[in-house]
Amino acid sequence: MERLDVVVVGSGPAGWAVAAACVGEGLATAVVGPKVGEVWGSTFGVWGDQVDGLPMGAKVKRATKVWGSGRELRRGYAVLDNPSVVAAFRAIGVVEVVDKVVTAEFGPRGATVVLGSGRRVACAVVVDASGFRRVLSGGPVRGTRVEQTAYGVVVRSSDVGPPVHSGEAVFMDWGLPPTFLYAVPLPGDRVLLEETSLAARPGIGWGELKDRLHARIGPVSPLAVERVRFPLDVPATPVRHRGCVPFGAAAGMVHPATGYSVGDVLATAPRVATAIAAGLARDPVTAAGAGRAAVWSPGPRVVHALRRYGLRALLGLPPRRLPEFFGAFFDLPEPLQRAYLSERERPREVAAAMLGVFRAVPWEIRRKLLVSRHSPPG
Ligand SMILES: Cc1cc2nc3c(=O)[nH]c(=O)nc-3n(C[C@H](O)[C@H](O)[C@H](O)COP(=O)(O)OP(=O)(O)OC[C@H]3O[C@@H](n4cnc5c(N)ncnc54)[C@H](O)[C@@H]3O)c2cc1C
Repeated sequence: MERLDVVVVGSGPAGWAVAAACVGEGLATAVVGPKVGEVWGSTFGVWGDQVDGLPMGAKVKRATKVWGSGRELRRGYAVLDNPSVVAAFRAIGVVEVVDKVVTAEFGPRGATVVLGSGRRVACAVVVDASGFRRVLSGGPVRGTRVEQTAYGVVVRSSDVGPPVHSGEAVFMDWGLPPTFLYAVPLPGDRVLLEETSLAARPGIGWGELKDRLHARIGPVSPLAVERVRFPLDVPATPVRHRGCVPFGAAAGMVHPATGYSVGDVLATAPRVATAIAAGLARDPVTAAGAGRAAVWSPGPRVVHALRRYGLRALLGLPPRRLPEFFGAFFDLPEPLQRAYLSERERPREVAAAMLGVFRAVPWEIRRKLLVSRHSPPG
């Protein structure tokens, strides 16, 4: 293989999004991973306005209505149709290398990526999109982490009843806090019903979540089962090599208080690719630095810190107060909800959303929110 401009490690949403964007900038780009070309196994949801970041030909299942903690949300929601999304990314012209990245050697003129098969691939810039494994960015975070966990079943739409109505998405239907029901329509007239623990350290186990789900919906014969477990408190400052751009979950881009990252990587990937392409006019180290700066510019850093505070606040609340807390959140004006949930560049609005919730909740909750800064996660 000739020397490439960019090698992307990992073929999840972050890897494909940034690789496709790099090709769009005219850069010779490869994606390396053990599962390149395979359809993602997780159900990925994004806000309706984030769908624009998907490649041409990608399909989604849009919810007809969206409910959050009992309120109707004036914002669309869509679930990715993974086979069509991956096929659309694959059609863009990225070189696919099915292999595992073991390490990479970085120098002033670029990098050499060392693969499990023994092959070595030379390139100017490496993007580490290896998810929580953070293969080139310090490895998996250690210790007991704050985790999001969920246990879900896929059933036919005709088999569900209230509070889930066919075609609609439900966030946070509270039964017995701290867990809630997350329900989304899937392609092919199916629904995912997922008992979810937003954040706990350590995460609530699948056994308990399964029992809670079955207590809620009764016995079902699922078409498929989904188990979710991932850390929320991945640092935004991974180990850095001068020729490497961490991206996606590997870069700590997962929202600390919601667990979302897919919409954000779709929106951010083109900026990262543009920055790398511009930097390559000078040299690989400049290009990688510009790519990193496009991921974590000052605005997103402040937003991330505020959201981490939000995570601490969540962890400090007694479970019985969670529905009230999220009710106050979903009563906020839509632009403030949007900023907190999915805008990386709007620190003012994110702070205003947090202040809005603080003002709206009773004093018992306010007290807990104030002292939560004394018990930081991790
Ligand atoms: C079940 C589940 C459901 C989720 N649902 C949502 C959702 O609805 N919306 C949302 O925004 N977020 C969701 N998340 C959270 C988060 O956005 C996802 O974890 C998302 O997959 C992160 O994307 P990523 O591309 O950064 O990492 P990943 O999707 O984890 O991709 C990492 C890639 O790196 C590859 N890799 C690993 N090691 C190596 C190696 N040594 N060499 C080469 N390649 C390697 C892997 O094979 C994989 O392809 C969910 C998470 C889970 C686990």
